[in-house]
Amino acid sequence: AFEVLVIGGGPAGAAAAVYAARKGIRTGVAAERFGGQVLDTMAIENFISVQHTEGPKLATALEQHVKQYDVDVMNLQKAVGLVAPKAPGGLIEVKLENGASLKSRTVILSTGARWRNVNVPGEAEYKNKGVAYCPHCDGPLFKGKRVAVIGGGNSGVEAAIDLAGIVAHVTLIEYDSQLRADAVLQRKLASLPNVTIVTSAMTTEIHGDGSKVNGLTYKDRNHDVAHRVDLEGVFVQIGLVPNTEWLKDSGVALSNRGEIEVDYRGETTMPGVFAAGDATTTPYKQIIIAMGEGAKASLSAFDYLIRLPTE
Ligand code: FAD
Repeated sequence: AFEVLVIGGGPAGAAAAVYAARKGIRTGVAAERFGGQVLDTMAIENFISVQHTEGPKLATALEQHVKQYDVDVMNLQKAVGLVAPKAPGGLIEVKLENGASLKSRTVILSTGARWRNVNVPGEAEYKNKGVAYCPHCDGPLFKGKRVAVIGGGNSGVEAAIDLAGIVAHVTLIEYDSQLRADAVLQRKLASLPNVTIVTSAMTTEIHGDGSKVNGLTYKDRNHDVAHRVDLEGVFVQIGLVPNTEWLKDSGVALSNRGEIEVDYRGETTMPGVFAAGDATTTPYKQIIIAMGEGAKASLSAFDYLIRLPTE
């Protein structure tokens, strides 16, 4: 059995594994795809002290750092269930899709999240070539340019307000007849001179010249008319879904958005089980935050272990 078993191999899981291994305790990492969302990222310019890197390069560095230590890395392993210990301080079981199961004194959940796609022609083709999902990450790449934000919930409206301060013009596109964001955000958005709000609009296509985005078409749902907007960037803000479906009946509390509830130490509601990164209720889904939270959860797991009664 492990003393620390990390589920997920993104920035949070990698940091948790390095911190655990450095305590000299038996550490394992099971990940469906080591590297996580970082593998799908191109330029990364907000990982402090590294002015510029690329996702696949950072993912390789994460794996190399973990493998420098005596960590059992189990890649391409999907967790499908978590079973609480039979007695306090006992072994926690993680069931894998391949039928095997892993046991550990503590478990760190860091299964991350995924952005919901609009699923229109051009989205996949122009991902990282004008189609973006994270305004904190990619906003500055569109300085002085025209962008659209798809989605009028809190995250879409926050993104539009944020981007309006950087880009030349923002078109906010909402499918419903009204925005769903908090009233205070809607008022702020409406006060900005370089923002156009379009409601009852269904995005139907993202256009490009073969190498980068140059426009977007939406259908006015009230009049069934198509409109084209010329622009250089599209931010899709229709939801970030945590990869926590497998925890639903485990006894670990999830928020109403499916995020793992953690306290300031990274503890979940199940003793011995900790969590970090995009899968949790911790706000602001960023690499540097996921890494910090992973380190924190790992230190909390160590703190829990040293308090267990000796057998
Ligand atoms: P993830 O990176 O999502 O990793 C989750 C890990 O868990 C993966 O290994 C996955 O395979 C595994 N997993 C999931 N489910 C299971 C399961 N059931 N069993 C086993 N393993 C499982 N942030 C920045 O700071 N700067 C940027 O420039 C930036 N750009 C981005 C660009 C894009 C296109 C995207 C999608 C995200 C970007 N982000 C950026 C956000 C950043 O990637 C995330 O905040 C960060 O990766 C979160 O780390 P994490 O470890 O919590 O989760």
